[in-house]
Amino acid sequence: GQCIMVCPTGALMARDNVEQARELLEDEEVITVVQFAPAVRATLGDAFGLLPGTNVEKRIITGLKMMGANYILDTNFSADMVIMEEGTELLGRLNDPQAKLPMFTSCCPAWINYVEQHIPELLDHISSTRSPQAVMGSMVKTWFAEKIGQDSSKIRMISIMPCTAKKVEAARPQLAKDGVPDTDLVLTVRELARLFQSRGIDLKTIPDGEFDTPFMSQGTGAAVIFGKSGGVAEAAARTLYHVLTGGEVNSIPFHAAKNPHAFKEAELELGGKTLRIGVVYGLANAHEVARQVLDGTSSYDFIEVMTCPGGCVNGGGTFRKRGKYLNFTEQRFEALEKADENCVYRQSHNSPMVQQAYREFFGEPNSHKAHKLLHTTYDNRKKEPAVPSIREVWQKIKLG
Ligand code: SF4
Repeated sequence: GQCIMVCPTGALMARDNVEQARELLEDEEVITVVQFAPAVRATLGDAFGLLPGTNVEKRIITGLKMMGANYILDTNFSADMVIMEEGTELLGRLNDPQAKLPMFTSCCPAWINYVEQHIPELLDHISSTRSPQAVMGSMVKTWFAEKIGQDSSKIRMISIMPCTAKKVEAARPQLAKDGVPDTDLVLTVRELARLFQSRGIDLKTIPDGEFDTPFMSQGTGAAVIFGKSGGVAEAAARTLYHVLTGGEVNSIPFHAAKNPHAFKEAELELGGKTLRIGVVYGLANAHEVARQVLDGTSSYDFIEVMTCPGGCVNGGGTFRKRGKYLNFTEQRFEALEKADENCVYRQSHNSPMVQQAYREFFGEPNSHKAHKLLHTTYDNRKKEPAVPSIREVWQKIKLG
């Protein structure tokens, strides 16, 4: 027969994050704020039998409201904030002969963990700007709390993300205020599907909803492409183009990379300088590109790294056909590209909500307040092996 272990007090029953999210959303004592990442809108529909690449942004809003969320915000907003901070940081480095270049993007936490644990020599090259998830959490517990006239201790921030690495990121001590994490709970796309299904919410049949706060709920076309490999680099380049030339562009001409470890490259002639941008995915490729940087053989000024092939639309917490990895990439890319084209504003600096945040709260990008709330620090977590390997011992004997 079956052997079932029973814990009489229930203390051993681990509650999963879906159950925790449901409890938070139904708790009337707290104010729940939910954000969802760019890639989520292009990947959740698969769980409900919608065509791959169906953009379900507006149905996610309805579903979350049905679950009891008090406020729904868009990670696209904080992605635009990231571009303002990271772009300004890059310009500062380009103008400072002492600064470390190239600069790497920082929004993929699996990449950050890898650098901290395996190539800490590279840490000074990583942008100090927090990821969109972390920027949103920090702003919700400060500016947003002020805007809705509530104490931040009453707010619970839930974010819907494409991977479990974002759960690890949310637990970083650097992303907490007085020991309280800015992001209280993270669900993956697959967990959000289970959350909806647990209350019988079918994405296929529910109507569209609309974001309902006039702040922090809207992003530009530059932000929504964060979900695909190359999107962050492109978004940053659109804003750098404006800062350095005064003009506006809706897209940046990337081409297939000459560097065998990169996916795409672009060279931009800006204000008498050539800015070289590289786009890389996969840790094996990123490791090689990092080596080139540390050896002094890299030609790039700015490098985007995403751990997942194709970027967050292929995150480990999204849906895929059994055994296949890159199956829906094309349709998901198209969904985000179409969303970009349909946006009124295509560049982060033109977002009225971003402009409002700087006007009312931060002053300007990289201001003292912005540094405190929108930037972070990294740790060298490389572990030296406690016992020398047999190979090292053998080499010593040979050398001696
Ligand atoms: Fe997560 Fe992959 Fe996106 Fe990195 S690239 S943030 S690991 S989904």
